[in-house]
Amino acid sequence: MSISNFWKLPGHVSPPKVEKKTGGGCYGLYELCIEDARLKPPWVRDGNILLPARVNSKGQGTAEVSLKERKGQVPLYSSEEGKWFLDPDRLVNSVIYEDYFPKKTPLLAKLPFPYFIVPGWVKNRLYFLLHLMHRRRKKKSFPQWPIDKSVDYLRWLYMKSIALKSCGKIPYIHFWPGGSEMAVTVTHDVETADGIKNIELFREIERKYDIKSSWSVVSHKYNPNIGKLKELKKEGCEIISHAYNHDGKLAFLGEKAMRERITCSTQRLKELDVKGFRAPMLQRNKRFFEVLQDYFSYDSSVPDTETAPLVRSTSGCSTVFPFFIGKMVELPLTVPQDQTLIHGMHLSNAEMFEVWKQKISWIRRLNGIAVIDVHPDTYISGNMDKLRVYEKLLKHVSSVKGAFNETPSAIADWWRSRDMSSIKKKGKEYKIIGDSRAKIAYFR
Ligand SMILES: [Zn+2]
Repeated sequence: MSISNFWKLPGHVSPPKVEKKTGGGCYGLYELCIEDARLKPPWVRDGNILLPARVNSKGQGTAEVSLKERKGQVPLYSSEEGKWFLDPDRLVNSVIYEDYFPKKTPLLAKLPFPYFIVPGWVKNRLYFLLHLMHRRRKKKSFPQWPIDKSVDYLRWLYMKSIALKSCGKIPYIHFWPGGSEMAVTVTHDVETADGIKNIELFREIERKYDIKSSWSVVSHKYNPNIGKLKELKKEGCEIISHAYNHDGKLAFLGEKAMRERITCSTQRLKELDVKGFRAPMLQRNKRFFEVLQDYFSYDSSVPDTETAPLVRSTSGCSTVFPFFIGKMVELPLTVPQDQTLIHGMHLSNAEMFEVWKQKISWIRRLNGIAVIDVHPDTYISGNMDKLRVYEKLLKHVSSVKGAFNETPSAIADWWRSRDMSSIKKKGKEYKIIGDSRAKIAYFR
C-alpha cells in the first residue's frame, strides 16, 4: 500500500523524489531527528519518534530529517534538495505489516495443553509479573505505548514534502464520510460463558448512548447462545468471530488445520452473517492472514501499539487508520484493551480512564479511528466496578459531535468504498468520483 493511495491523492499530484530504496541488512531501531521546525506538525512537539528500519548503507548528504542511531545518522528527507533519501513507502509498509517483528512462535502456542486450563488467578499474576519485567527491561522499545507516532508522522511528512515542492494545498479524500472528525467502534471479545451472560449489563449502558456494539464470540469454547446473539443483531449490533476455541495456537497451525478450525467456527455462527474476525490474544502472522482473507472481509486483530509480553512482547502497526491486508480491511485496535490496563498494569479506574482519554484525544487530533475492546467477562470488565468506568468511556466518546460511530463492518465497507473513489480535476475544480459520502479535504 502506497502513502499516496492512503491519502487518495489525485493523479496529477506527483509523488516526491526518492533517491534510493531501503532494504537488506537487519532491522535497527532509529530515532527520528527533525531539524527544521516546518517539518514538525504541532502533534510532534515533544518526545522522540522511534522507527525500526533496514538501512544497508549509511547514506550520503545532509538532511533536515534523519534517522539517528548510536553509530551515526542516516539522511531521510531534505526539504532543501526536495528529495527523500530512503523510500517512505517501504519504511511505512515494513511497520504496518510488522515486518520488524521477530517471526518466532510464542511459548504459549507451544504448550502441550490449552493455556486456559491454567486457573485465572495464576494467569493474571503471571501476566502482571511479565508486564513488570518487560517494562523494566525495555525502556526504549517499539512501538511506543500508548501512542506511537512513527507511521502517521511519515505519512504527514510525505504530504508536507509535496506541499513544499508545489507551494500549494494538496487535495485528498477525507478519511470519513461527510468529513467526520473521527470514527468510533465499540467491540467486545467474549472470553467465557460468563461474558455471554453479562451481555445485557453492557447493552443497558450502550443504549443510553446509542452505541451499536459488536461482539466477538468463540464458537466452540462455551455455548455462544445463538438466540441471544440474534437478538443483538436485531438491535443493530454485529457478531464477529473470535475463532474456534481460543487456545492460542490457531495462527501457528498448518494451513489445513487452520482452515478446518475457521470453517467449523463460521459454520456454527452461520445464521449471524459474520463478516469480521478478531484473533484470540491478537495472535497473528502473515501466513495466517493469507488464509483468513478467504473467509472474512475485515479483521481487527492488529493493535496500533500493544504491550502484551505473555503473548508477543510489544508489537503493532503504529497507525490509527485502517489499511488493507490483501483483500481484507484491517481495523487496528487503537484504544488500549481493558485487560492490559487492569491485569497487566494494575491501573486504578481513574488511571485507566485517563489512558483512554489521552488516546482518544490523540486519535481525534489525527482524524483516525478509535477501535475500543472492552471484555464483558466478570473477571475483566463485566462487574459493577468496571462497568462504571466503561460508562464514563462511552459518555466521553459520545461527546465527540459528528463522529462516525458505527459497527466495524460498516466502517470496513466505507474504507473499501473510499479506496475505490478518486479525485478528478475539472478546470480549477476538484470532484469526487465514487462514494457520494466522500469529501475533499486539503493538506496545507
Ligand atoms: Zn480473547
